[in-house]
Amino acid sequence: MSDCIFCKIINNEIPSYTVYEDAGYKVILDRFPSSVGHMLIIPKKHIEDIFSLDEETAAGLFQLAAMLAPRLKKALQAEGLNILQNNGEAAGQTVQHLHVHLIPRYKNDKVNIKWKESDPTPEEFEKTLTEINNI
Ligand code: AMP
Ligand code: ZN
Repeated sequence: MSDCIFCKIINNEIPSYTVYEDAGYKVILDRFPSSVGHMLIIPKKHIEDIFSLDEETAAGLFQLAAMLAPRLKKALQAEGLNILQNNGEAAGQTVQHLHVHLIPRYKNDKVNIKWKESDPTPEEFEKTLTEINNI
């Protein structure tokens, strides 16, 4: 994709801080990190989002996350790590080339991943389950 910023990073047309690279994936530091070490795992194939993600690439993404997480934790003395992956504008996706965020967490960091909880009735749960079971 000629106008995709992550394709350009993968093709070294624009610079990035590369943490790891192999034939299928590139891992870079996020340009605007939420915490120290915030990085992005990017498949080299231009895949827009999870709705068009093939299972093989999906498996490779999580394999890489599992490989990197403990190393990252140790190297940066992180106390935790969030894995985040946004799909679609409604979910906050701003770059339309699928990527997985690895966000190291530290006590008193400025990261805020929290939502307002709801409390559905049993009927509402049943309705949701029925809808899901019909897919
Ligand atoms: P998302 O909102 O999930 O689509 O995340 C896109 C991420 O890409 C954001 O965290 C941005 O800070 C990051 N980003 C945007 N441009 C660049 C760039 N040139 N190099 C590295 N990260 C970038
Ligand atoms: Zn792309």
